[in-house]
Amino acid sequence: MEMNGPAKGDAVMTRINRAQECASREEKFAGLRSILSRMAETGHPYAKRMAERGIRPDDVSSYEDLSLLPTTTKYDILNNYPLGWLAVDKKDVVRIHATNGSTGKPTLVAYTEGDLLMWARNMAWCMSLAGVNGDDIVQVSFAYGLFTGGFGFHEGASLLGAAVVPISDGFTDRQVSIMRDLGSSVLACTPSYALRLAEGIERTCGDGLSLRLGFFGAESWSDELRKSLESRLGIKAIDLYGLSEAMGPGVSSECLEQNGLHISDDFIAQTVDPKTLETLEDGSEGELVLTSWKKQAFPLVRYRTRDITSLMPGPCPCGEPTPRMARVRGRSDDMLIIRGVNVFPSQVEAAICAVPGMSPNFQISAWRDSGLQEMSIDCEMSGERDAEDIEAMGRDLAHSIKQSIGVTIPFEILPPGALQRTDGRAERIIKK
Ligand SMILES: [Zn+2]
Repeated sequence: MEMNGPAKGDAVMTRINRAQECASREEKFAGLRSILSRMAETGHPYAKRMAERGIRPDDVSSYEDLSLLPTTTKYDILNNYPLGWLAVDKKDVVRIHATNGSTGKPTLVAYTEGDLLMWARNMAWCMSLAGVNGDDIVQVSFAYGLFTGGFGFHEGASLLGAAVVPISDGFTDRQVSIMRDLGSSVLACTPSYALRLAEGIERTCGDGLSLRLGFFGAESWSDELRKSLESRLGIKAIDLYGLSEAMGPGVSSECLEQNGLHISDDFIAQTVDPKTLETLEDGSEGELVLTSWKKQAFPLVRYRTRDITSLMPGPCPCGEPTPRMARVRGRSDDMLIIRGVNVFPSQVEAAICAVPGMSPNFQISAWRDSGLQEMSIDCEMSGERDAEDIEAMGRDLAHSIKQSIGVTIPFEILPPGALQRTDGRAERIIKK
């Protein structure tokens, strides 16, 4: 029997376009005040902190007023484990996700039906900025589960009317054969897993792939790794940003200009000095602080993401009116201060990728010696080399590290494949 439904993607695109229209300042602050008022009425832990400062929900009606509000961190959510951060009735919760906490309890995040729709729309909007549409086959190689990566891409791509392949992470050879057999046109995974897939494709003679776009996130990654992934996978590699506490992936994403990530209109972004919490001007690098004027179940009010970036002044040539943020340089937690110089793992990655013959895989060891921060790098070559080549690569790498980071850092070049691979997020820093 023939189905007479709307053409695939049509109705959906109308909805996405509507989501792209920017809300007025009045609308955003009315939304935020309504969330703050409900928190005050229900005795939410954040309302107590507002009361201590003598701030009422009605005091917040402009971007300047935002700075009156106390900042929040993941410890606010953790200290109210499991669901003490909830600002709606328990019966209105329809989904719970969590961040993979490295120690102890995970940070939980709850969603209402409206929160899930907001998330799906944001993901669809992000992906449509780079041209994903109903004709695409989207291979979601992010983990499905409590982690938000898999479900975020799944719902966003579905809303665009694309065909979703919910393969999750792992089983690299099977990923490659399905990618080839189905003609997947879009890949979504962590950048470190994309590298592993590229190795799998090269190992199994990867002709006949139809990939055109890759969405990579959940780790900070360098422009040098982008170039490597683009040439090895034959794609445009798009940086898509998010965090579970804010809903998951979909807070911001690059358009095809690949010059900054457009921030969803559902969030108000600020950058602050991580030490003084003073709000910074556009263009100055600091910690990203996010507020959502829509998110209901687990409100996001001046949430300190720990991610280091800057807000970019001026409009984007693509015509999309939303403001942009620079690519995240790293997490403030992952920043090492070596002889007075701030070092992020993404800079180490860039220094390594700049040397021909090096694989982009690496691991940093960090320790303290008489109170001073020290670090060393284990990296590997991409294929077997003779001793003379290795010596030359060592000289090039030493020069590249000094050039791009500004300090000398000891390193060791290991044989190809010596470093452990992961299916999800790579652990770049081992603290000793
Ligand atoms: Zn743009």
